[in-house]
Amino acid sequence: MRYLVVSDIHSNWEALEAVLAASQGAYDEVLCCGDLVGYGADPNRVVDWARQSVNVVVRGNHDRACAGIEDLEWFNPVARTATVWTQNELNEDNREYVRLLPKGPLFVEGFQLMHGSPLDEDEYLMNPDEATEAFAYLETSIAFFGHTHVQGGFEWRQRNVRNLAKLARNYDGISTFDLNPNAAYLINPGSVGQPRDGDARASFVLYDSDAPYLNFHRVAYNLETAQRKIVSAGLPDFLAHRLAVGR
Ligand code: ZN
Repeated sequence: MRYLVVSDIHSNWEALEAVLAASQGAYDEVLCCGDLVGYGADPNRVVDWARQSVNVVVRGNHDRACAGIEDLEWFNPVARTATVWTQNELNEDNREYVRLLPKGPLFVEGFQLMHGSPLDEDEYLMNPDEATEAFAYLETSIAFFGHTHVQGGFEWRQRNVRNLAKLARNYDGISTFDLNPNAAYLINPGSVGQPRDGDARASFVLYDSDAPYLNFHRVAYNLETAQRKIVSAGLPDFLAHRLAVGR
């Protein structure tokens, strides 16, 4: 089966549109590692798409918050403002869909899907030390996660854990990564709607479960429109600015 794997769309319709155009015809199913909403100006459009087109999606922390099932106390002021705005913006059906999103990890055809880590949906896997612990709880040799907005992930091989973020950076559109049959992988497709790895282009992964490799992708999108919508929605300007620098 060929999968389009996305994560952290964060209500950025322009970025999602570019990802869908760039991957058209290259996948059979869509998987999402969470955070459909929060930050951007198009929550309903993104959730409409998810309801129609995504086969498996786990909930993210922003999904919980925007559906009103999470305390906003630990959110910073910008995230909190965006969350409250999204709560008011989501129509009833979409809010209900987001509220009922399942908690990861979920099993899909021999691999796992999660937002943060196998143990904790809110944990950020940022470095090999954190990933080493996570690998101990992985039940499959490949898993997809999100939450950090950094494309790449980690490889476990002969007890060594390697950060793949550098491999999956600053390439020209597509980067093929070979999967070693004796290794285990925590793969982060990167963020569609708010990359934070210094590359402003939208991120995604194409994974064919019959192939011994996967492809990291980046695609430029109509950033100015996404920014303009954020500003005219009355969301914090910072959320528009950060899109341009990928931070
Ligand atoms: Zn996120």
